[in-house]
Amino acid sequence: MKYIVVTGGVMSGLGKGITTASIGRLLKNRGYSVTAVKIDPYLNIDAGTMNPAQHGEVFVLSDGGEVDLDLGNYERFLDINLKSIHNITTGKVYRNVIEKERRGDFLGETVQIIPHITDEIKHCIRRAAETELNHGDLADICLVEVGGTVGDIESMPFLEAVRQMHGELPPHDMVLIHVTLVPVDTMGDLKTKPTQHSVKALRELGLAPDFIVGRSDVVIGQQTKKKISAFTDVPNKAVISAKTVPDIYQVPMELEKEGLADALIESLKLEGRDPDPDWYHIVSEEYTSRITVAIVSKYGIEDVYISIKEALKHAGRALSTEVNIRWIDAERCDQAQLADADGILVPGGFGVRGIDGKIRAIRYARETKKPYLGLCLGFQLAVIEYARHVLGIADATSEELGPGSHVIAILPGQEGVKDLGGTMRLGACTIHLKDDTLIRRLYGSGEVVERHRHRYEVNPEFIKDLEAAGLVFSGTCVDLMEACELRDHPFYLATQFHPEFTSRPSRPSPPYLGFVNACRVNRASFQSG
Ligand code: GLN
Repeated sequence: MKYIVVTGGVMSGLGKGITTASIGRLLKNRGYSVTAVKIDPYLNIDAGTMNPAQHGEVFVLSDGGEVDLDLGNYERFLDINLKSIHNITTGKVYRNVIEKERRGDFLGETVQIIPHITDEIKHCIRRAAETELNHGDLADICLVEVGGTVGDIESMPFLEAVRQMHGELPPHDMVLIHVTLVPVDTMGDLKTKPTQHSVKALRELGLAPDFIVGRSDVVIGQQTKKKISAFTDVPNKAVISAKTVPDIYQVPMELEKEGLADALIESLKLEGRDPDPDWYHIVSEEYTSRITVAIVSKYGIEDVYISIKEALKHAGRALSTEVNIRWIDAERCDQAQLADADGILVPGGFGVRGIDGKIRAIRYARETKKPYLGLCLGFQLAVIEYARHVLGIADATSEELGPGSHVIAILPGQEGVKDLGGTMRLGACTIHLKDDTLIRRLYGSGEVVERHRHRYEVNPEFIKDLEAAGLVFSGTCVDLMEACELRDHPFYLATQFHPEFTSRPSRPSPPYLGFVNACRVNRASFQSG
């Protein structure tokens, strides 16, 4: 097993996750199988209880792990399925060590950060690296992204564990890549000082980078590379320019042009292989049409809905259609903002804020026959909207939202749940799709596996009446309603599951493909009419 460890310097938000995923893609394009581990140095056990407005989307893995959004990038870029153990947090590491201590595993010892915590970190990294990939194979290379910024107190034990691993592994089995910021000053000059300082901080921890990836708004030229090289002892050709590009899927191509793949293969003493051009083809499709999708949500922050944004992009690309997203604040949503959008999407969410606006938007989509895609909460609200305005249950609502007729009720077994972390219905389940329905046609199969993250469901007591009133429950998992649609509508589909989590650039999610296609048709007929 070869390891590529990625650290970050200067500040967070540099696109370290995308850089890591792109490095993996480069090596995958050379025929190597690649897995990835994300280290998050916070004390939370997982991302499930964190505010998405601060940390971005909570990504859900097939095993139900609620993890950092970077694992979504790894899954999309590398086309693999990761597990909860691929996201290591300080919380998980300390919990394991403290459990061992209570069991008496360290009897007689003083339990300390070094060696107990660092040993546990190394064990967690190795275990994740050596977990089988999709087809039962082991990866050739494991990417390890250390979250946070070098110099943070929180990341110290992790960097120390990496330092130890580096010493323990045979030569050429680990390379260290430091991703740093190379800002442009008011005179238009590239500044290398922040990079110098962060490499110095890394060296103080006993870690010498093999590569420096400089993130910048412009290309980092030879002059600047030379300067960085001189100050950091990293060879000139190992200083890589990574300028900001309009689309994340262009990043691997940019890094390939910089020669990073060849240099990594050389450093890791891997066999050189020609790059596979296929993936680059998938992601560089030309657009022939353009649509606008209105996303009605509580947070207008793209990072909160990154998987949805990417799934729309994957579908759009497959249909040569550029998807523009218009973020609409659910609390201020009015018809004027929806009228000229080609489709409406209501994503997942929790709590009462913005609910009325979302229901208004769903009603508008249903009544004006605009394409609608609802996801999780967007599914539950579609059911509530139908119950209120078609079935005539004026006080229809969800148990989550307050008193009324609970057409959406708490899932069986969830009633007494007190601990909120990791206790929802989470992860992959098999869903049966009814014959002769839109969703069945889209998937082209009667059975699909998709991921979940919810605590409430369609109340079984209302299903018959809803169906009699025309709502079609087209997907089910045992007796739980998983999807609904309308027959007399060009595209009205909502799912209790989150199809966005399994969408890949090479395999767009069927509900998203159907939705984007319907938006395209809707736009064409709007223009010709
Ligand atoms: N809040 C809803 C539930 O818990 C929907 C969850 C979601 O949209 N992810 O069931």
